[in-house]
Amino acid sequence: MRYIDIHAHMVSRTTDDYQQMALTGCVAVTEPAFWPGFDRMSADGFEDYFRHLTDFEPQRAAKYGIQHYTWLCLNPKEGDNRPLARDVLARLPNYLDCPTVLGIGEIGLNKNTRNELTTFRDHVELALQHHQMILIHTPHLEDKYKGTALIIETLLSYRGIDPRRVLIDHAEEHTLEMILTNGFWAGLTLYPTSKSSPQRAVDMIEMYGPERICVSSACDWGPSVPVAVPHLMLEMRRRGHPEALIQKIVYEGPIAFLSQSPKFRVDGRGAQ
Ligand SMILES: [Zn+2]
Repeated sequence: MRYIDIHAHMVSRTTDDYQQMALTGCVAVTEPAFWPGFDRMSADGFEDYFRHLTDFEPQRAAKYGIQHYTWLCLNPKEGDNRPLARDVLARLPNYLDCPTVLGIGEIGLNKNTRNELTTFRDHVELALQHHQMILIHTPHLEDKYKGTALIIETLLSYRGIDPRRVLIDHAEEHTLEMILTNGFWAGLTLYPTSKSSPQRAVDMIEMYGPERICVSSACDWGPSVPVAVPHLMLEMRRRGHPEALIQKIVYEGPIAFLSQSPKFRVDGRGAQ
């Protein structure tokens, strides 16, 4: 079965990972800009990263028959550095017209600081000005509930925000309902140690239904599994869920969300 991984940090992965993903049915990935494990020293470092995401990575993915799309931003962790954020945000619009850029992401909050919130607002306003879709990162562990609520409240304070064009990722059992009831798409990220396991993700899908829920590996440079989405598919099969439901979660749902960008096309499908 074909699937789309909507959140995968492929710059941190090897070509072997692309091969494994292709062998297990992956036809497209979307890669949000994120924190590389260290704080960058200047906006020039971000420009190199944006060129990596928009130029080199789509070519590398194409060798395995995988379409590569991306989301650009200054991530929530480095967003605490306001001078750097201002500098990067001034340069970011230069990349929005690239053919594989779907929108702004992954923006959001990390420790829910005042500076992070200001940088988050700057990104939301940039997205609105340029009619971009948005991919949201929510904080970890004890900061998650408060941070997710603050993100939703902030987004809804903008009249121009259409929740159907925003995916709020790293949802868990205690945040999924507030994301869905406010009309946003929700993402479940399948990690071996934190956030959601494939089993917990299937539990949540069984509780809330498949509408506006996507799953992804969110694989990066830390402990993570690039073929986590097939693990979820296996778990759904093991529990007796029909193939049509599995396909809706891993393929049809992502196409419905991503096709709101006129740039997205996969298997001949997407925005007309
Ligand atoms: Zn991420």
